[in-house]
Amino acid sequence: MDESTQTESEQGTPTGYGFCSWHQRFAAGVRLINHIEQGSGPGGVQYACQPCRIQYNLVPFADR
Ligand SMILES: [Zn+2]
Repeated sequence: MDESTQTESEQGTPTGYGFCSWHQRFAAGVRLINHIEQGSGPGGVQYACQPCRIQYNLVPFADR
């Protein structure tokens, strides 16, 4: 049980499939951009897909 488990998810590949808050559709490779702490429902986080990150000049939360 000592095999390395960080092979596939850390190669700069897209994070996953999720809802893009900018174009309001589900997309592959969304990244967390913001999370807003307002405590009102599940809409506290905003994810953006790569085309929207480029178009709106968004910086992923983890890259700041
Ligand atoms: Zn998008």
